[in-house]
Amino acid sequence: MITLTIDDRSVSVPAGTTVLEAARTLGAEIPTLCWLEGLDAWGSCRICMVEIQGHRGGMAPSCATPAAEGMVVRTSTPEVRKLRAQVLEMILATHHADCFNCRKNGACELLDYCREYGVVKVETGLEVRHHVPDTSNPFFNVDRNKCILCGRCVRICGEVQSSHVIDFTGRGQTTAIKPDFGDRMGESSCVSCGNCVSVCPVGALLPKPKVYPGAHLVEKRTRTVCGYCGVGCELFIETRGNKIINVMPAQGPSNKGILCVKGKFAWQFIGHPDRLDRPFLRKEGKLLPVSCKEALDAYEAALRQALAKGGPASVAGLSSARCTNEENYLFQKFFRAAVGTNNIDHCARLCHASSVTGLSKTLGSAAMTGSIEDLDLADLIFITGSNTTETHPVIGSRIRRAVDRGAKLIVAEPRRIELAEHADLFLRMKPGSNIALFNAMAFVIIEEGLAAQDFIAARTEGFETLSAFLSGDGDASRAWTPERAEGVCGVPAGEIRKAARMYAVAKAASVCYAMGVTQFHNGTDGVVALSNLALVAGQVGRPGASLNPLRGQNNVQGACDMGALPDVLPGYRKVADPAARAAVAAIWGREPPSAPGLPATEMVEVAERGGIGFLHIMGENAALSDPDIARTKKAFGKVGFLVVQDLFLTETAELADLVLPAACFAEKDGSFANTERRVQRVRKAVEAPGQARSDLDILSELLARFGLPLVDSSPEGVFAELCRAAPIYAGMDWSRIGEEGLQWPCPNPGHPGTARLYTEAFSRGKGRFLPVEWEAVAEPSDSEYPFTMTTGRLLAQYHTRTMTGKSPAIEKIAGMARVEISPLSAALAGISDGDRVRMSSRRGSITAEAEITDRVGDGLVFLPFHFRDSAANLLTSADALDPESRIPEFKATAVKISKVEPEAGKEAPAIPS
Ligand code: SF4
Ligand code: SF4
Ligand code: SF4
Repeated sequence: MITLTIDDRSVSVPAGTTVLEAARTLGAEIPTLCWLEGLDAWGSCRICMVEIQGHRGGMAPSCATPAAEGMVVRTSTPEVRKLRAQVLEMILATHHADCFNCRKNGACELLDYCREYGVVKVETGLEVRHHVPDTSNPFFNVDRNKCILCGRCVRICGEVQSSHVIDFTGRGQTTAIKPDFGDRMGESSCVSCGNCVSVCPVGALLPKPKVYPGAHLVEKRTRTVCGYCGVGCELFIETRGNKIINVMPAQGPSNKGILCVKGKFAWQFIGHPDRLDRPFLRKEGKLLPVSCKEALDAYEAALRQALAKGGPASVAGLSSARCTNEENYLFQKFFRAAVGTNNIDHCARLCHASSVTGLSKTLGSAAMTGSIEDLDLADLIFITGSNTTETHPVIGSRIRRAVDRGAKLIVAEPRRIELAEHADLFLRMKPGSNIALFNAMAFVIIEEGLAAQDFIAARTEGFETLSAFLSGDGDASRAWTPERAEGVCGVPAGEIRKAARMYAVAKAASVCYAMGVTQFHNGTDGVVALSNLALVAGQVGRPGASLNPLRGQNNVQGACDMGALPDVLPGYRKVADPAARAAVAAIWGREPPSAPGLPATEMVEVAERGGIGFLHIMGENAALSDPDIARTKKAFGKVGFLVVQDLFLTETAELADLVLPAACFAEKDGSFANTERRVQRVRKAVEAPGQARSDLDILSELLARFGLPLVDSSPEGVFAELCRAAPIYAGMDWSRIGEEGLQWPCPNPGHPGTARLYTEAFSRGKGRFLPVEWEAVAEPSDSEYPFTMTTGRLLAQYHTRTMTGKSPAIEKIAGMARVEISPLSAALAGISDGDRVRMSSRRGSITAEAEITDRVGDGLVFLPFHFRDSAANLLTSADALDPESRIPEFKATAVKISKVEPEAGKEAPAIPS
């Protein structure tokens, strides 16, 4: 610690603290412009000057001066204030100070300081800049005439977002910030995250006027959590009355002051005129508006009728990874306790069900073993089956940042994703070859004596069995040598060896994976093989060493935690366990049934046979996100009574008998659990439209109608109840999850939460090695369907576009489906870039625009699954399900492609194999 005196007060701070930070601990107000929390200090604007006794020149920039023992500092002497005023005068001299018309007025740091220091624009002889405003980015404008060259945008884009798009160009009076590839932001490599816009202290970078009328209008700022992906970025929603004016990043634990394009800009859906603002009931074939009472009466009557006819087994519910923990908790409670069925599931079935089954078998529980922060501590990161920069963009930035600071990166993917450009090693593998790759890497690690012997001996079981299996169990031809794996993966054996060595010798290596591992008919085995690899190398349970399934939707982790699954109660206690049932019965007053219910994929099968009398879908668009959607829609058509609760009349809601209008994340209070098991507060910023109600309200009323009224139906009251029902949440309460949140397990009120699992032992005691054999994809390409289609997401779109599809600027950058096809495949198929193509599988056919790119290898095509008009899931199969997790094989579908001839309206024949 260092002790110094600031404004006649003594303060002790840790070594390395700057004078600015030390002064702020005492509440001293020092102005800053170039300085920003989280960025390296530049000390360039000089407005934070303070007087330091004995310092050369008497003054120093406090942001860039380390505090020193015995230092005597004065922060606000007349000389200091005079110097700051001079700095402001100089900045103002070249600034286009059109303050009356500037939309930043009200939050402009320069203007605020000028007022505080009594500075007005004076004639200095310096010329105001004359740059042409750049309006080429769809989300924000650049006005370089207002730029004060503070460099915040350059540093946030480089140091934190790690995109390195903007920098200073020119000298002296001509100095300006410019993007790469010329002058125009819209033609650069900018990913429109808007982080530069959020940090700009003046009006040089501002969101488009259409969405951002001006800072002076902001009346209230509400801190909440982004409603898109599982990173769980914290943000402020700025509002005036019931209108959203702006969204700004908060210094949340998972995002540290940045957002991606969706969190920052894709919020227009919230007040969109298409929002459902009243319930609709199908009468004589048509969905007609009804009152809330009539809607819930119809719900109750239909459910009672279904129960009378088919019993609880004929009733099912799909909960939602978009809704809060409280809502998911009440949903499963309603079905288990009020209806008497475990037929509850949600979209985790379609994304990480294989992680749940796989990691439960090997480690004992299924979640990220580490925290997002572990990526900062890793010296190697292995990405596989995850296009992280598009699906989890803020984690993607963190990975790029790790590479910038020297961490090694291995990417194993069928597509050359953006992170591959930053990788030390890119393994372009065939879809469905994960198990072969992971087995071969484990084989190399053992063969070359790189296995973590002490860790294996102390913390695991089954190593001998795995080792024998990988060596072929006595049959050398069956050994998982890199050479054998090369034949399966298409990755050269030497590269596999290199990857294995890099992973094994890293001091701390973290793996991030997602649906490119899980969405196969043998997805569970893929997860097990990856777990084997992590255990062989001992890369789990230490700082920076972790195995991380990246959860897709904002609250998919929470929906699982809450027991919105057919076989587990809140906190993952098995429904088959009498003690677990008794524990929830003590809270609910009714015991749930003991037999596991139907997983989502089987609900569709049973519905197809006419076995579902009542289906309630809360916040899921299964008619677009399920595999083989023609079949799914047909099955929904056979459901006795279909209820859909959502924000918009989605493709699924169009099929419903009853549509209930719901509130979105910005219109309610509650909590979400992000991908790193962090439970965070969601806060209401605006009112929901018309009669739309939070899912919590709707479910509370349903529980009351079915004899289980809640003692306290507020979000806080329900959270208190769910913490009693889920032991992993037992130590949390509303105030404890506050702003930083808490990571489960948090078993008692004094517990700080758990950033890192398995530091001492695994949930099941010892980590288990389980040999798993590779199997080819269920639907390999053949002469009739010569291509393999894989699906995925785009950065700016989200899931089935229920929300992003309502943001016009998003549509500008990612408004249509494009099929990625390699140059060779395209040449063979007679397809040119931009051609309209028809793509068909054994189940259906779609058209889309072709994009010729070497992002995909020969024989592989990629289609994003977001688009209704080119719905990838018309082509995917619901037949090939993983036997344990019941996840479908979304990631490999055999397809054929032909060009749609524009003039004749005819299609060219499918290409020969
Ligand atoms: S929007 Fe993001 S990527 Fe683009 S320049 Fe700004 S910080 Fe960089
Ligand atoms: S555009 Fe804004 S953030 Fe960037 S250097 Fe200029 S004033 Fe600073
Ligand atoms: S990374 Fe995810 S949570 Fe963060 S702003 Fe983007 S969509 Fe929202």
